[in-house]
Amino acid sequence: MSSSAKRLDPRAPFVLDVHDLGRRPGTQREVTHTAPAPADLGIEVLSVPEGSPVELDLRLEAVMDGVLVTGEARAALEGECVRCLEPITDELDVDFQELYLYDDTRDAASVEQEGDDEVSMLHGDLLDLEPVLRDAVVLALPFQPLCQDDCPGLCTECGARLADDPDHHHDAPIDPRWASLTTLEEGQE
Ligand SMILES: [Zn+2]
Ligand SMILES: [Zn+2]
Repeated sequence: MSSSAKRLDPRAPFVLDVHDLGRRPGTQREVTHTAPAPADLGIEVLSVPEGSPVELDLRLEAVMDGVLVTGEARAALEGECVRCLEPITDELDVDFQELYLYDDTRDAASVEQEGDDEVSMLHGDLLDLEPVLRDAVVLALPFQPLCQDDCPGLCTECGARLADDPDHHHDAPIDPRWASLTTLEEGQE
């Protein structure tokens, strides 16, 4: 089954019905919509908790070839600092825009043949916001989320969180070379 043949579930949280735009270019509608976050919305170290609310403010506008969706999504984020592993909570606020082509136009047929994944398609009167939302969220997130901009991370010797203990230090570096020297010295005593 090709992706174009996939059926959208009209009751799925991020599937919208645009039948009321009537394919009249220029017709538009504002929609406010809250839906539960799908699994894995984000990146491994920072994501929207599954099931937590994603608030969407959308403008749906019929254009010649399809429906242009302009939107803003807001959600809570949870993750961990990549340097010190401290839990992070943050707010996501991301803008996105996507043109969904009508699935019965000549353009749509050629897109289908070429298997172009970059193009979003309507499925009849339905469109699926989830893939677009996923892309927008991933692009908006920092690759390396930090608990604070200058997080000093963890002590490389004992793993202590340095932000909690800025004066933290060890008298003797526990370097493998030093460790063997220490053993040597101990053995000589
Ligand atoms: Zn940190
Ligand atoms: Zn230490």
